[in-house]
Amino acid sequence: MNSITVFWFRRDLRLHDNTGLYEALKNEQNVLPIFIFDRHILDDLEDKKDLRVAYIYAALQQIQQSLADDLQSSLKVYYDYPEQVFEQLTQAGITLNGETYQVKSVYTNHDYEPYARQRDEKVQQILSNSGVAWHSFKDQVIFEKQEVLTNADKPYTVFTPYSKKWKHHLTDAHLQERLVASHAQNLLKLSPQLPLMPLEKTGFVDINKSFSSKTIKKQLVIDYQQNRDFPAVQGTSRLSVHLRFGTVSIRKIVKAAQKYSDTWLNELIWREFYMMILYSFPHVVDKSFKPAYDCIQWRNNPDEFKRWCEGTTGYPIVDAGMRELNTTGFMHNRVRMITASFLTKHLLIDWRWGEAYFAKKLLDYDLSANNGGWQWAAGSGCDAAPYFRVFNPYAQTEKFDKQRQYIRQWVPEFELSRYPAPIVEHKFARQRALDTYKAGLSKE
Ligand code: FAD
Repeated sequence: MNSITVFWFRRDLRLHDNTGLYEALKNEQNVLPIFIFDRHILDDLEDKKDLRVAYIYAALQQIQQSLADDLQSSLKVYYDYPEQVFEQLTQAGITLNGETYQVKSVYTNHDYEPYARQRDEKVQQILSNSGVAWHSFKDQVIFEKQEVLTNADKPYTVFTPYSKKWKHHLTDAHLQERLVASHAQNLLKLSPQLPLMPLEKTGFVDINKSFSSKTIKKQLVIDYQQNRDFPAVQGTSRLSVHLRFGTVSIRKIVKAAQKYSDTWLNELIWREFYMMILYSFPHVVDKSFKPAYDCIQWRNNPDEFKRWCEGTTGYPIVDAGMRELNTTGFMHNRVRMITASFLTKHLLIDWRWGEAYFAKKLLDYDLSANNGGWQWAAGSGCDAAPYFRVFNPYAQTEKFDKQRQYIRQWVPEFELSRYPAPIVEHKFARQRALDTYKAGLSKE
């Protein structure tokens, strides 16, 4: 039986500058790229038009096309449980175009979320039982896990010193491109090419949507600092979805940030900071980073939660954000902060409810960034704003959407009588939040 090496795509859906793929091609011959639509995840998604599944499928189509056009190779796509795929591969090998191959080794890139780590441990066990080698590499970030620590070798819990140390550690070697193309001859050649599995096989619908561009716009990055807080302006990169699924390389983006905008570089470091927090303090997944905040007596009114979700709170900037999210799967960062603050402070609804709603809707949903953002807004997170700083939605509007351009786009009826009255009066809600937080925290 001929032997092959498998490269397993996960959050790194690109052929260029991909560390695991580069290493596989450099060290092995007959490398077959695969992707698994994981039934553990897909079968739990209610919306069969989920934008994220459509996004992944579009990325796979591009990979398949490039493999076929330029490299006479193919991508093998599965819809299954990863453990079962690897059980099968190790037991029976893999049959392609009538020929069966034995799997010799598996290459991939590290995936850090708690579910992914558990999955990988199981897969590694299956492979090692059959003597198949497992090689995994850092690719999604510049610094992973606990590579950036305090001088006392502890994880940082405050952003600014973390970011300073991060920048101090950064060298050109960290940003060097992995030249996949230079070893492309080691991809498994298949004739005829494998057809791409139709998305319908997973029960999801191919909505054929086009997504935001992954080009780094130089002028946007140069102007980032002055424009980034205004939701009506295209002042941020919209690269989050590409970073989420690895359709761009973090090294390429950090290089551009280094060149043109330190403020933008800091945002990319926030991404790694929250990944480090999740890795070092896994309790944040369902508990407050600061335990005292788990004593807050949330009101958790389901009708108010529903109005927040659908964008009918009577606060135009909050409603605009929620409607942008519901319609597009994206929300501007400034508005994410305002809507999250509103839910936790004005309505006193548990941040975990808001976090779960964002997780369902955001195209760029990422456990660490979403959890970090929510805990920051609720005041319960590391390096969060102190709880007594409550965002005033009206003042935020005056500052960041003065001409009401963003609001007009998403809540055109905001000045009409049919627009709902505010769900709660601001001053009253602010005081109620302060009292409730104070009472909760004094229980510690
Ligand atoms: P840019 O401003 O161009 O920033 C560049 C990149 O830096 C982003 O694409 C993102 O990868 C990263 N980044 C920027 N800000 C942050 C941040 N505060 N924390 C972590 N990474 C950051 N971001 C997600 O990627 N996924 C989420 O699920 C997510 N949930 C959030 C929830 C809340 C309540 C809040 C307040 C923020 C959340 N963010 C999340 C962070 C931020 O809002 C988005 O990354 C950003 O709006 C994406 O737009 P952009 O690509 O144009 O960002």
